[in-house]
Formats: sequence, structure tokens, C-alpha cells
Amino acid sequence: MNNFTKIFLLLSLLIYSCAPKLTNLDFVKEEIAAYYELGNYDEEVNTVISDAIKEFESVEAEDSTAVIFDIDETALSNYEIEKKTEFGYVPEIWDKWVEEARAPAIPGVKNLYEFLIKKGIKIIFITGRKDYHYNSTFKNLHSSGYTLFDTLIVRMKDEYTLGAVDFKSKKREELTFRGYKIVGTVGDQWSDLKGSFHGIQVKIPNYLYYIE
Ligand SMILES: [Mg+2]
Repeated sequence: MNNFTKIFLLLSLLIYSCAPKLTNLDFVKEEIAAYYELGNYDEEVNTVISDAIKEFESVEAEDSTAVIFDIDETALSNYEIEKKTEFGYVPEIWDKWVEEARAPAIPGVKNLYEFLIKKGIKIIFITGRKDYHYNSTFKNLHSSGYTLFDTLIVRMKDEYTLGAVDFKSKKREELTFRGYKIVGTVGDQWSDLKGSFHGIQVKIPNYLYYIE
């Protein structure tokens, strides 16, 4: 073996040992489906929620005290349509699903919502869903049991291109100027929770997609 061959083999070995070990996408999807369907996801949500309830217990509710909830994969679960589209995003299928307004509540999150309502805290929904989905979203919140809330805020046309952090911060800022005292924000993405006026941050797990 000459020196050139030795160096070549050494480099090949080095490149191979540094290469990331990947899992076939179909297996990852199966693993995630099992996590959701065998109850592990609900268990994880429930742990997050019981920690959140402990934090909110010490909050004094005044007339203007509010908690912000995100909708998709926070208040409502879209797992059914996510699985049907093999965890991809197909705009036409998504729009049809939202219009059907039959996404179920995520039970743990619903418990937190009920706990806050009983405490006298106001609930405000801020969602990245667009204005043309306002009615079906309102209907879906009601049909899944979220019947008591102050406001539902969707993206208006001039806000379509805003990033999630900017859009949600801007809305929380406006609510604060209107007199609300935001003591917490609940969402499945860090982009729901970052930015200004968020209060206690409650991060709901989401293994289906990521929004920056
Ligand atoms: Mg969401």
C-alpha cells in the first residue's frame, strides 16, 4: 500500500465516522405516530399542564388579567389531518380541514383553560390562522368546548408575511395597551412564547412540525 492509498483510506474512514447516523423517514414517522397514539404524548402534555397549574396558582386574578392561548396543537389537535397527509403540509387539504371545524381539544390544555376560567382569568386566542378562517375557527373552538373567551385574534391581510414572533408579540403589545394584564402564554412553538408581554410561558410539546 503506497502513501497515497493510506491517506485516501484514512480520509475515507474519517469522513465516514463523522457522517451523521440517519434514520429512515418512514421509521421516524412510525415512531412519532406511536408516541401520539399510545398515550405518551398526552402524558407529556399532562405533566406540562400540572407544572403550569402550580405556577398559575399563585397568580392573583384581577378584571384585566389574561392568559394567551395559541390554537393549533395547543388548544386543538390536528393530528388526524397531519397523519392523513403523512405529516406534510398540503394547503388545500389544510384549508378544507380548518373549514370543517372538527379538530378536537387537547384534553390537558382544556384542563388548564378550565382552571384559569375558574380562577377568573380571561382567555384570549392568538393564532397564525388567517382572517378567512375566522368563522370556522370560532366555530371549532366552541364545538370543542372552548366557549368562554374574550377575543379570537387571527392574522389580517397586512399581517400575512409577519414572522410568528413579531405577529404574536405585536398582538400581545396591543392587548396590553388596551388594558389587559397578560400573565401567561400557552403555545406549542417557542415562536408563540418569545417576544414581549408573554408572562408565564407554557410550552406544549409538538413533534409534528416546527414554526420559526
Ligand atoms: Mg400552534
